[in-house]
Amino acid sequence: MFKKVLIANRGEIACRIIRTLRRMKIRAIAVYSEADEDALHVKMADEAYLLGPPPVQTSYLNIQAILKAAKESGAEAIHPGYGFLSENAAFAEAVQREGLIFIGPSPKAIAAMGDKLEAKRLAHLAGVSCVPGTDELIKDLQHARKMAEDFGYPILVKAVAGGGGKGMRIVSDPKALENALKGAGHEARSSFGDERIFLEKYIDAPRHIEIQILADIHGNVIHLGERECSLQRRYQKVIEEAPSPSVSPSLRQKMGEEAIRLAKTVEYSSAGTVEFMVDPRGQFYFLEMNTRLQVEHPTTEMVTGLDLVEEMIRVSAGEPLRFQQSDIKLSGHAIEARIYAEDSSRGFLPSTGRIWSYLPPAEKPGKVRLENGVREGDIVTPYYDPLIAKLIVHQPERDLACEELLNALDRFYVRGIETNIYFLTSLVNSSFFRKAEFSTATLDEFYVEGFTPQAPQNSLIAVGTAAVMYCIREHLSQAELVVLVGSGAHPVTVQLEGERSVVREGDETLIIETRWRPGDVLFEGVFNGHALTLQLDHKGIRDNLFWNGDGAYTQVVNKRVAELSLTMPVKQQSDSMRIVKSPMPGLVVEVVVKEGESIKTGQPVVMIEAMKMENIIRAECDGVIEKVYVKKGDSVNVDQELAKIG
Ligand code: ADP
Ligand code: ADP
Ligand code: MG
Repeated sequence: MFKKVLIANRGEIACRIIRTLRRMKIRAIAVYSEADEDALHVKMADEAYLLGPPPVQTSYLNIQAILKAAKESGAEAIHPGYGFLSENAAFAEAVQREGLIFIGPSPKAIAAMGDKLEAKRLAHLAGVSCVPGTDELIKDLQHARKMAEDFGYPILVKAVAGGGGKGMRIVSDPKALENALKGAGHEARSSFGDERIFLEKYIDAPRHIEIQILADIHGNVIHLGERECSLQRRYQKVIEEAPSPSVSPSLRQKMGEEAIRLAKTVEYSSAGTVEFMVDPRGQFYFLEMNTRLQVEHPTTEMVTGLDLVEEMIRVSAGEPLRFQQSDIKLSGHAIEARIYAEDSSRGFLPSTGRIWSYLPPAEKPGKVRLENGVREGDIVTPYYDPLIAKLIVHQPERDLACEELLNALDRFYVRGIETNIYFLTSLVNSSFFRKAEFSTATLDEFYVEGFTPQAPQNSLIAVGTAAVMYCIREHLSQAELVVLVGSGAHPVTVQLEGERSVVREGDETLIIETRWRPGDVLFEGVFNGHALTLQLDHKGIRDNLFWNGDGAYTQVVNKRVAELSLTMPVKQQSDSMRIVKSPMPGLVVEVVVKEGESIKTGQPVVMIEAMKMENIIRAECDGVIEKVYVKKGDSVNVDQELAKIG
């Protein structure tokens, strides 16, 4: 077995690979950019080598620097993680040329599957069901029109070199075809340096189901069941689970067999994933094969008990697979939630800055697993992917897994940057998620503008928590109070005895048991027999409470103050809406407006690129563009003024 392995990656996946290397007693070599000098993966590794300045081209995509670090450290093999160079055949080849081992499939298999048309051609050969469409490149508009008419609208324009959802356009109207071809081609060229595009029939409301494959270099291939990854936002997965609540044992077997046939056709070795779409009638179609470890691989690990990173390492060292298909048993249900540094309330814009507080929930062996990429005090920079951690739960049944996940998310306390945690909690709490009734279209349909925690109607939970905290802070054993929640005033009586409080509002009673102390940022309580954790932000005389995707601003006063405060005038919205500011640091890729132009609320003003995404900055009020302060190509800071609306 290897003595030293280099990890050509960063963040949670680098940390996750280090965990396995440590267990296998292999020394872990990290690489890092100037922006990651203090990063968690550098601290966890046995040795670390600087690659270069922060941009990916000079750091994590810098093949020469990575190979140099491998040589210097004496590493025998390189694990690429996911993203970055993991599906780069030229990198895999360069690693081999240096006499090192690439922990992944052969460069040939990577190249074949990285080209979506070639992959479809091979899938056809292997007898795998493909999406209706063509296996041909689009030559020109006429050609595309003809093909689209042949198999019928809506169609999907796709990039041959696609990945991460880039270079895709849905077309339902023949008139929109020309623009879609241009847009997709342009995006494909700027993302992948390859503008080739093709057409596919657009499958309405499918599920995304993928099969995990494991293969060795001796021709043995097994599958480890499926993962359900339909909950996506802009083609990026948000929550994944294994097994899929909608896959029967016979469908699993059929899809598994086809995935194995495809893997054998390309002489695949290592871990890999064959992605399928399943339509509402249960018909499935091959999408693509990812020739690497997948972000959501821990769900498969939880239900199979295998460590996929260990198996990848063993296979690349030449060992035969240690399991046969009949050894693979799926047990229980696992769900993964991806924790992103993004602001759900501002259309999921990436969020950067220093993480002032980072209190993830505790791991529970076999039940709650945390794949972490950051620590308290770290800075989230705009250079890389906004995924900071993953939370994975495992329980005998799906319902129990949902409860466990909700509970763990409610305890996941991050301050300093914005995260999608409340959005995830709300999602896990939603009825479509609980009933497992969703498709790849669901999230984009339900959350068009993003997500902001809302105060629930008449929440005795918020009222009771605020009242009990007030009594604990003020050392009161009983009190008559008014709790203001949003614009509502709730008169309550509270009685405290040790850890038990009784809160009454009208004829409703809530019994809260808690050990909460002033200063605790989590309010852990048992509410009428039901355990629940609320997150707190104590701001002056107010408390902001967050739980299960709900949020409430509370303030506790005596009766007289309550009466007066309800007669206070409401503060008017300030002029600050007239100044359009950048919500994050980034690069101006387009100024959409001109001075003197009139504009309406919600219309785009400037496009800013940050964290690999183009973000539209919109007007927050109607008016006329009085001044534009930036131009295309400018770098901007957070809160920098972009334009003024008069
Ligand atoms: P998975 O299928 O494992 O969920 P994704 O398709 O989300 O993986 O991509 C894995 C990682 O690689 C993500 O962090 C994603 O942002 C990144 N990624 C995927 N394709 C690209 C690309 N073309 N350029 C840059 N990053 C990419
Ligand atoms: P990428 O390489 O960017 O991951 P995929 O081909 O895997 O691209 O597609 C990403 C997502 O786009 C899928 O998970 C699915 O939600 C959607 N998608 C792709 N092809 C189709 C199609 N023909 N019809 C409907 N949705 C599709
Ligand atoms: Mg994909």
